[in-house]
Amino acid sequence: SPSSTVVTRFAPSPTGYLHIGGARTALFNWLYARAHGGRFLIRVEDTDRERSTEAAVKAIFDGLSWLELFGDEEPVFQFARADRHREVVDQLLESGHAYRDFTSAEETGRLRDAAKAEKRAFESPWRDREPTVDDLALPHVVRFRRPLATTVTVADQVQGDVSWSTEDLDDLVLLRSDGAPTYNLAVVVDDHDMGVTHVIRGDDHLNNAARQSLIYDALGWTRPTFAHIPLIHGPDGAKLSKRHGAQAVHEYAEMGYLPEAMRNYLARLGWSHGDDELFSDEQAIAWFDFKGVGKAPARLDFDKLAHVNAHW
Ligand code: GLU
Repeated sequence: SPSSTVVTRFAPSPTGYLHIGGARTALFNWLYARAHGGRFLIRVEDTDRERSTEAAVKAIFDGLSWLELFGDEEPVFQFARADRHREVVDQLLESGHAYRDFTSAEETGRLRDAAKAEKRAFESPWRDREPTVDDLALPHVVRFRRPLATTVTVADQVQGDVSWSTEDLDDLVLLRSDGAPTYNLAVVVDDHDMGVTHVIRGDDHLNNAARQSLIYDALGWTRPTFAHIPLIHGPDGAKLSKRHGAQAVHEYAEMGYLPEAMRNYLARLGWSHGDDELFSDEQAIAWFDFKGVGKAPARLDFDKLAHVNAHW
């Protein structure tokens, strides 16, 4: 039935070229959608107006095109949806799941430092304070009112069940004082509106999954299934950096690697199907599942890549 159709998405921030970590995330989402007869969508997360550039948008789409990973619908641009994000914030304010915080940035910093020193989460004095009509005219942010003294558990398809005490999180900002929606809010609203059923992304976003889950719950929306993939490390096992060699997808294209070889190699970065090294798209689609995704960071291996490329 249409309601059970798998929908995945790749949601890059256009602040630079498409790197191999992003390419692998896109590929896993593409494979999962293909494996389940679902749809693969692309969303450009261009809400950071200072760091997002047209050149980066183009570089990301060029990289995806070279890899032949095309979305099944027109891409969504997140910034264009800011009014919708603000509408959902109004909904949260009305239901009491959000509140206006008039604390100045300076005072917030001071309270944050004090909370840190006492090893507790920062709490805004406005969490339980009703603004007057006069207050409402003043600049403020809107914060999520998280539930206290409870646990949020993310049933992650790769990491297993991961739980957080809500006492360790804080009331995250949903709208900045200039009315700009923040990342966690925009992601929840967009994933919901786009019908995304599976969020597959790097495990640097695992903490965000806890925060996002609380927002889904507050809105009465069904949470997507999460799968957080370990990051890619360099051949020496350390965090990927320039000295490890090519990190941009276009560099591989320029070096003469074939897109089908790159797909084959990227699929093997953090996912395995027995000892199989060389496989076609059809085989990858037939075999891809979360069980085959490892829990440890994948390591780049240029000899393996050359080996795969020679085969293609
Ligand atoms: N735009 C985020 C990033 O580039 C990804 C957000 C997500 O996948 O939820 O890291």
